[in-house]
This record gives sequence, structure tokens and C-alpha cells, in this order.
Amino acid sequence: MKRVLVTGGAGFIGTHLCRRLLREGCHVICLDNLFTGSEHNIAFFRNNPNFEFVLHDIVTPYEAEDIDEIYNLACPASPVHYQYDAIKTIKTAVMGVINMLDLAVKNRAKILQASTSEVYGDPTIHPQYESYWGNVNPIGIRSCYDEGKRCGETLCMDYHRQNGVRIKIIRIFNTYGPYMLPNDGRVVSNFIVQALQGEPLTIYGTGEQTRSFQYVDDLIEGMIRMMDTDDDFIGPVNLGNPGEFTILELAHKVIQMTGSKSEIVFKPLPHDDPKQRKPDISLAQQVLGWKPQIPLDKGLRQVIKYFKERC
Ligand code: NAD
Ligand code: UDP
Repeated sequence: MKRVLVTGGAGFIGTHLCRRLLREGCHVICLDNLFTGSEHNIAFFRNNPNFEFVLHDIVTPYEAEDIDEIYNLACPASPVHYQYDAIKTIKTAVMGVINMLDLAVKNRAKILQASTSEVYGDPTIHPQYESYWGNVNPIGIRSCYDEGKRCGETLCMDYHRQNGVRIKIIRIFNTYGPYMLPNDGRVVSNFIVQALQGEPLTIYGTGEQTRSFQYVDDLIEGMIRMMDTDDDFIGPVNLGNPGEFTILELAHKVIQMTGSKSEIVFKPLPHDDPKQRKPDISLAQQVLGWKPQIPLDKGLRQVIKYFKERC
């Protein structure tokens, strides 16, 4: 039985990944410090004999044996949470990755690094393809995350070149779905929770900035396919849904789909907020035979249902 370590396994994406890996018959070790993850998320497979939960912080080295694959997801991903303790975020993104790469060396394990579209910063080309080097402010409030993740990619490449570690780098674009926490702070969960509670939807800036929203099931499929590629395919590869929407469009959609009477209020735009973002997914299509299947409306319906049961 394949033994798979999922760091950040009690977080939003990690919960979906653990469930999928258990379904595929793997033994799953879910490692998390529960900063933005929740034990409630993993409660329904907690008693599965093939599932282990380890309370651990990846900034500290982790010793384990007989690990075949590592999915390194541990890192807060929402701007509110990664900016809460920026030094801790960059330690997680750099020292944490070093610790997981060292673990991969000792176990001769394959490691998939969850990188991000944030490596492109506030992009000057559109859509973003993998060979674009990005436009990132190295000293701004998003840098702990953006530069941390860029360094994470560098570390993976260096361990690959120097130590022969089998690596896979994915750049995830804005992903949403059930198991986001109501206080996650990212736009999809914020808007849905606000609409369901009859609170005003908070648009930062004018709402003309764009994002491309991917439903989590599509991402998980892409991650599994990426892990299963031949060792000579290391990426980086974009995983995202090319459907691009303004934040204002998203707000109207959520209000209409929830039937909410909420108004829209405009708040200041945070520094360095990217103006546009859309993945070029030709590489993923070509190598993984992958493309997203779930359009925004369908995905939003699922998340609205999820939060209706919880709010
Ligand atoms: P999340 O905040 O829900 O999950 C992150 C998980 O990592 C949480 O369970 C948290 O407790 C855990 N964690 C944080 N720091 C840790 C540490 N030092 N040691 C151990 N555990 C730690 O976020 P998510 O959306 O599920 O994101 C998962 C990964 O995917 C992150 O690495 C993120 O950068 C990447 N990503 C996500 C998106 C997205 O849109 N969701 C986009 C790009 C990249
Ligand atoms: N945003 C917003 N209102 C919110 C939360 C976010 O208008 O309540 C905006 C945010 O400024 C950004 C976009 O929505 O332009 C996406 O933000 P999110 O935090 O979800 O992801 P990221 O900025 O990392 O892409």
C-alpha cells in the first residue's frame, strides 16, 4: 500500500486530497499545525485505519520512514492569514520546504510542491504561462507568501539538480470549494458567507480586478495526475480554470444565486493586489490530459449549499 504524506492535510485543499487518496487505497499521513486547518474537516475519516493525523509544524524537521509520496501543502494561503504573522509564513514557505525536501531525500520519496499563481505577482502578460518569470514586489505585504513560494520552487529545483530528488511543481490558481472556513478571508467564501448572513458584500477597490476561479475537485484531479507523471516531468505546471471574472461580476453572481438582499460596499484595495489573473493551461492539457470540468456557476452552487448548512 502506497504511503502518502499530506502536509497541510487538515486545510481546505488538503482535506479534499486526503479523501481522494484514501479512496484510491493509499495510507495517508496528514500532518498539520492547525493554524488555518481544522480537525472538523478531517473528522469523517479520522477513524479510517489507513488515516493518521500528526500535529506538527513543518518549520521543525519531521522524521518518518517508508514514505512513498509527499504532497507539500502546508502554508496559509489566504492573504489575511499569511499576513497575520508574515515571518512565520516565510519560515513555513522556505524552512518548511527544506524540511520536506530533506524528508524526501531520506525516504527516496517523490514530492509535489503546491506553488501558486502568486509567483507571477501582478502580471504584465495575460494569460500567464509557465515560462513567464513574473512581476513580484520583493518588499511588499504579499512578499512573505509570493517570494516564499518562489523560493520554494527554487529549493525544489536545487534539490532535484543536486540530490536527484523527484519533484513535481504545480502553480495553483484561485481555488474554492467546500471545507473553506467561514473566516478564511478569500473572496468566494467571504461573499457567500456575507450574502447568506444578509451582510454587505465587501469589494476591495473598484471590483474591476479579475480572477479565474477553479473548483477544488478539478484541482485535485490535476494534482493526482501530476504526481503520476513520469519522473522526467517536473513542471512547473499551471492548474487553474481559465474562465476569468471581475470581482464585481462575482459579487453579483453570488447575490443572485443566494437570493440575498445584501448590498455591495466598496473598501480600500490592499497594496499590491494583482489586477488580473488567468492561467494558460496548454501545458497541463498536453501533458496531463487535464482541463477543468466545473464551471463557476456549478461550483458556486456546491459551496452555497455547503455554507447554508453551516452558517
Ligand atoms: P489552507 O489555509 O486552508 O490550508 C493550509 C493548511 O496548512 C492548513 O491546514 C494549515 O493549518 C496548515 N499549515 C500552515 N502552516 C503550517 C506549518 N508551518 N506546519 C504545518 N501545517 C501548516 O489553504 P489551502 O487553500 O488549502 O492551500 C493549500 C496549499 O495550496 C497552500 O500551500 C497554498 O499556498 C496552495 N495554494 C492554494 C491556492 C488556493 O486558491 N486555495 C492557490 C494557490 C496555492
Ligand atoms: N477581495 C474582495 N473582497 C473580499 C476578499 C477579497 O474584493 O472580501 C478581492 C481581493 O482584493 C482580490 C480578489 O478579491 O482582488 C481575490 O482575493 P483573494 O483573497 O480571494 O485571493 P488573491 O488576492 O490571493 O488572489
